[in-house]
Parts: sequence; structure tokens; C-alpha cells
Amino acid sequence: MAQKIVAANWKMNKTLQESIDFSKEFAKNILNLKKTGVILCPPFISLFNINEILKNTPAKIGGQNMHFAESGAYTSEISASMLKSVNCDYVILGHSERRHDFNETNEFIKKKIDTALAKGLKPIICLGEKLEERESEKTKDVVKKQYDSAFEGISTEEVKNCIIAYEPVWAIGTGLTATPEQASEVHTYIRSLLIEQYDAETADSITIQYGGSVKPANAEELIKSADIDGFLIGGASLKVDSFTEIINIVEEVIN
Ligand code: PEP
Repeated sequence: MAQKIVAANWKMNKTLQESIDFSKEFAKNILNLKKTGVILCPPFISLFNINEILKNTPAKIGGQNMHFAESGAYTSEISASMLKSVNCDYVILGHSERRHDFNETNEFIKKKIDTALAKGLKPIICLGEKLEERESEKTKDVVKKQYDSAFEGISTEEVKNCIIAYEPVWAIGTGLTATPEQASEVHTYIRSLLIEQYDAETADSITIQYGGSVKPANAEELIKSADIDGFLIGGASLKVDSFTEIINIVEEVIN
């Protein structure tokens, strides 16, 4: 069985002080977690301090993006080694805001995935269709194309270090959530792609998160649905109370 993991994607939110305040309060809430994994992906400026605050808790930290190159003339970018140097274990790659607002292609994202794995960072690989793609029944085609590009040449050992996040673009930050049935259908499809490429045991061990307007009110029915192994959360991860509530819901459901 895949580990249930709840990740926060703060995007471009919170100053350093706000991140510190959040983390100090949040740290107390997760000390008794037994099974649920927790990952915080704050803006880069806060990684160092958040790591210090959360180091004796079960929470891990991750970057929201990275460049595929080791170093060089890439103004404003950050490398895998830099993320590792502040104790990041994870990095979000292929988020729809990177794909669509910053024109990141499957090919570009693939290079980052390969670098992350080579450098010992675990990528949270985001896949998902736009509204018009869902409406024209292209969801599975789009997800397959993104999947095929991301996992080409990835070995059985390497895939075990990947998290997949299914995030329908139309549900991100819009308040529209995929129904448990809609989400589950795509999650099961992604699992079938993993089974086809690897084997059933490996596929079952990969965490497939759902992302898109997850909140305390819808977390329980989503996490109880087939093949949904956790969440990647934007808006609701910005408040200690709502983020903690979602984590507690996941922890209770799996106990
Ligand atoms: C996200 O940014 O990955 C996300 C799912 O955002 P939200 O929860 O706000 O929809």
C-alpha cells in the first residue's frame, strides 16, 4: 500500500516571518502523527528556517520548483543541490501554474525530473488536464502524454522515489473540486499506467495525491476513494487550522 502523504504548496505566499509563525504553531500539531506523511513546500526564502523549526517533527520540506542544471547562468533559478543543502527531500515539478503560466513543456519538466532523481530529491510530479480538455473527453490522453514523458526511462527503483499528484487544472484555486468519482477514475487510470510500465506491487507502493481545492469539508470523501493516497494542497495549506484538520482526517481514515 502507498503511504498517505499530505503536501502543502504555498506558492508565492508568506513572508519569512509568516512562515516561521506558521511552522512554530504547526509543529505542535503533528508530533503524534503515526502514518500520514507531511510535506511543506514554502517559498525558497523560508526553507532554511522552516527546516530548523520542523526538524524534530515528522514533517519534511520541499521546493516548489527547480532547474535541471547543476549551476550556471540561470538568473533567479535554483538547483537540486541548493535544495538539498537546506535539507529538502522533495521538489514539486510540472505544477500546472509552471506548465501554463510559465510555458514549461513536458520535455523541460522531464529534464528536471531526471535531475531531481539523480541528485536524490523526490519529485512530486503534477499531471492534469485543463477544463476544455476534460470537456472534450481528452483527460486520459493528456494525462497519459504527461505521464509517458515524465516516466520514460525511469527505473523501478527510481519510481519508488516519485510521488504523482493528479491536479485537474480547472479545480486548482477555483473552489471547484473534482468529485471523488472523477478524481478516483483518473487515479486508477494513472495506477494502471504504473502497473503496465512496472508491476502491480511497485504501482501499489506509489503515492498518488489529488490536488484541486481540497479543504476540510471534502477531504474525507476524497481520501476514502480508490487510489487516492493523499493531497497536494494550495489555499487550505496556508492556515494552520485547515491544513492540520485535513492531515487529521487522513490520519483517522487510515487508522
Ligand atoms: C495547488 O496549487 O497545487 C492546489 C491544488 O491549489 P488549491 O488547493 O488552492 O486548489
